[in-house]
Amino acid sequence: MIAMRIIGAGIVGVTTAHALAEDGHEVTVFERRNTVATECSFSNAGFLAPGYVTPWAAPGMLGKVLGQWFNPHRAVRLSGWPSLALGRWLWRWQRASAPAHHQSNRQAMLTLAQHSLQLTRHIATTERIDYERAQGMLVLLRDKSDLAHARAGLKLLADTSVKFKLLDASACREVEPALEPNTPLIAGVYLPDAEVGNCRQFAIGLKSALVERSVTFLFNHEVTAIRPMGRMVEVVAHEAPQEANTSLGLPSALPTGDSSARTFDAVVVCAAIGAPALAEPLGLRLPIQAVHGYAITFPVRHFEAHPDVGPRSALMDERYKVAISRLGDRMRVAGSAELGGARNDLNSKALATLYRVVEDWFPSAARKAKAQVWKGARPMLPDGPPAIGASATPGVWVNTGHGSSGWALACGSAQLLADLVAGRSPAVDPERFSPLRWTRT
Ligand SMILES: Cc1cc2nc3c(=O)[nH]c(=O)nc-3n(C[C@H](O)[C@H](O)[C@H](O)COP(=O)(O)OP(=O)(O)OC[C@H]3O[C@@H](n4cnc5c(N)ncnc54)[C@H](O)[C@@H]3O)c2cc1C
Repeated sequence: MIAMRIIGAGIVGVTTAHALAEDGHEVTVFERRNTVATECSFSNAGFLAPGYVTPWAAPGMLGKVLGQWFNPHRAVRLSGWPSLALGRWLWRWQRASAPAHHQSNRQAMLTLAQHSLQLTRHIATTERIDYERAQGMLVLLRDKSDLAHARAGLKLLADTSVKFKLLDASACREVEPALEPNTPLIAGVYLPDAEVGNCRQFAIGLKSALVERSVTFLFNHEVTAIRPMGRMVEVVAHEAPQEANTSLGLPSALPTGDSSARTFDAVVVCAAIGAPALAEPLGLRLPIQAVHGYAITFPVRHFEAHPDVGPRSALMDERYKVAISRLGDRMRVAGSAELGGARNDLNSKALATLYRVVEDWFPSAARKAKAQVWKGARPMLPDGPPAIGASATPGVWVNTGHGSSGWALACGSAQLLADLVAGRSPAVDPERFSPLRWTRT
């Protein structure tokens, strides 16, 4: 048994705590906010869709982004002038878009996502977590041009073990009967094994199960440094005053409370966009870029005569790259990728795209007066796969940088990390996930 310390209680930190506790380690989680899943894991689209887990660094991606530049509903936006760090990140992203890199990164992420989905279901069953799960995902193709673009992706999917069906419009409407009949729809791709579920609810349920198993959560604790101390690791943390945090997931005030330094056997960095600042002084380069996205969550209207008024499960509007999710008695639309910019600045054009997609597909389902708007920062590495494994500093481990797929990859990543800590042979090849891949080059 090792005394393991985890930094960050997003979905990745909580699932890592679970995998390590399962192995019998003594686990404590440091989290700067006042509960679990308050940052990127707070209000994501909830897709657990291995076939859709793919690196953003892909051949032709730059051309697609630039080709959309003057479209007000474009999926990717640049907020302000790019910083030097963002410029470097974009250069690495472009290099990772080469076909050979893309292919191997995609395969690695797909394998991890498939493994992760099985583990998510297993953990939900054994820990009795209700996470508003719904089965199946439908990709909506509005016209011939959407269909032509989708065909290229389907060729890639056909080489994998992911099950999918190309449906005509009427078959799509059988899968999702509440789709607005007047919005043009030519076809859809149905992924029967994918699912949607509430990531935050899963994290909260798992945290409760872990507390019962003596895992300690130190909330309002911001880790400011990790230092090697012989064969041990020193963790320096500030205890932030309670009132400095908000439950809305907005940035807290700078911690002004007590600072303490303690030594432990090992630390796992699951701090997402907070990870580079902790890693850099150790000589570990983690080029994580905050790629902001938006989500709007609405209660679904209830009509006695039309019980099927909202979405049933997960949908993706391929034209606008906007996800639509059913989460219990609510629906959520999520999308947009904003490079640069600040967490608190809401881009009205990005939000207008989300409202438009709701209007197009489920115009009477959403109670818009009760909308909850959220902006979150995806912790994005330039090449795609998250960084999972040992750093060069003894006792310092990493499980972070899951970008747009952290919920879909969390349970599998946590298991991979626990296998590496235990010296077991993992179910997934760890090579493409090495946290040292930017430190070596
Ligand atoms: C609009 C949108 C839609 C998305 N949709 C999906 C989807 O459908 N499916 C999917 O799989 N993924 C999706 N994602 C991505 C997914 O939400 C993230 O990949 C995932 O939440 C990352 O989890 P995490 O635990 O690494 O990060 P976070 O949830 O951000 O957690 C990191 C935690 O570390 C803490 N922390 C940071 N630094 C420190 C420190 N120094 N000391 C103490 N604590 C610290 C933070 O407070 C935070 O709680 C979406 C993201 C967005 C923005």
